[in-house]
Amino acid sequence: MANTKGPAGRFGARYGIKIRRKINRVESRQKSKHKCPYCDEIKVKRVSLGIYQCRKCDSKFTGGAYSP
Ligand SMILES: [Zn+2]
Repeated sequence: MANTKGPAGRFGARYGIKIRRKINRVESRQKSKHKCPYCDEIKVKRVSLGIYQCRKCDSKFTGGAYSP
């Protein structure tokens, strides 16, 4: 099967390679940890759409839909 790697691999061969590559880029970014604007630690995870939480200082804040 052609190119089923990355987060969009769950879609298999469906939807076309261009859109799956886009999904790979967006999803690997939203799943990675981000920098906290309060304590400057790389401990921020996406909770849900536009909501991010720091695992260190426990602060919750809003941001973009896929990354803060
Ligand atoms: Zn923090």
